[in-house]
Amino acid sequence: MKLADRMSRLGTETAFEVLARAKQLEAQGREIVHLEIGEPDFDTPRNITDAAIKALNEGWTHYNPSAGLPDMRETIAQYVSNTRNIKVNRDQVVVTPGAKPIMFFCILALVNEGDEVIYPNPGFPIYESVIEFVGGKAVPIQLREENDFRLDTDELKKLVTSKTKLIIINSPHNPTGGILTYDDLKAIADIALSRDIMVLADEIYSRIIYEGKHHSISTFPGMQEKTIILDGFSKTYAMTGWRLGYGVMREDLAVLIAKLQTNSNSCTASFTQRAGIEALTGPQDEVARMDAEFKKRRDVIVEGLCSIPRIGCKTPSGAFYVFPNVKKIGWEAKKLADYILNEGGVAVLAGTAFGKFGEGYIRLSYANSIENIKKGLSLLEKTLQKIK
Ligand code: PLP
Repeated sequence: MKLADRMSRLGTETAFEVLARAKQLEAQGREIVHLEIGEPDFDTPRNITDAAIKALNEGWTHYNPSAGLPDMRETIAQYVSNTRNIKVNRDQVVVTPGAKPIMFFCILALVNEGDEVIYPNPGFPIYESVIEFVGGKAVPIQLREENDFRLDTDELKKLVTSKTKLIIINSPHNPTGGILTYDDLKAIADIALSRDIMVLADEIYSRIIYEGKHHSISTFPGMQEKTIILDGFSKTYAMTGWRLGYGVMREDLAVLIAKLQTNSNSCTASFTQRAGIEALTGPQDEVARMDAEFKKRRDVIVEGLCSIPRIGCKTPSGAFYVFPNVKKIGWEAKKLADYILNEGGVAVLAGTAFGKFGEGYIRLSYANSIENIKKGLSLLEKTLQKIK
């Protein structure tokens, strides 16, 4: 079989591989604590599930427009207008099966071979993977612990060239839990506007913030035209397996992103979109309850990690990840993460699963119960004691 050259440039998301390995160990009778995957352990709120069941019973089981059901697009437009304080209309919304396709489609639609895309590193691995897959040049901007894992806007300015087509930002951030400040976003917006660069703002964790407030780069004057907001239901409403997300962008781009959807998924499932309408318009107390629980877990995991010798851990302000510094242990992150899983029975990810600047770190997801987090921490401490 002669594969297309581009296949050699396609990366992956290690979390799924580690999850598979952890499941394999469980099948062999091992007990594993799962701190690898970024997925809320809560059930989807009942009102949302009921809306999906009702929709199925009502016959929402057919194709629908590629950009999404008109009601769903309208609901999202209103929700994004209210939460970001901008004016969005339904033609600017494209609904997709999960938020990930927005990443894929937008990079495909905007990046020519040789174009440069600046993206956070460490960062969500699919950014780098898709940029390279389409033949673009992936230009990492390093997020440093000493800068609270925020990107340095002076450095960003230096990385911009005449070939820069797109800047990707993600706040709150996976894998570090860092958030960009209003001033950071303002500086990024100034760069994008002065150099005519589009911004993909991955705001999937915008509702999971413990300190501070979410700011969207789209709110700065002139930026709505330049921004694609990526958001979805997976994290906020514990709906990872439903595959429901969306992008908000200028109308002319939305038409093309919908065309990419026609060429791939055709459309997003109809009954899940009906459930999505209920998620955004129904009661939000479950979201508040989940966020309060994540905050408690964050405090437990940060305190626990900081009490383990040779580990340092910043307190993240959002999302449900911690990115502890393990440099004092002296092992490569990948070797260490493998050892922690195989020897200790705790599934974690190497910082390098999020790019080369993740070396020296591991990522733990605290989307798990406090009981499991405590168990995982205790096993982690015992395992690390074996490394002299
Ligand atoms: N963006 C970031 C930063 C993520 O961490 C994830 C999921 O892990 C996604 C996007 C994708 O979300 P979805 O499951 O809706 O495709």
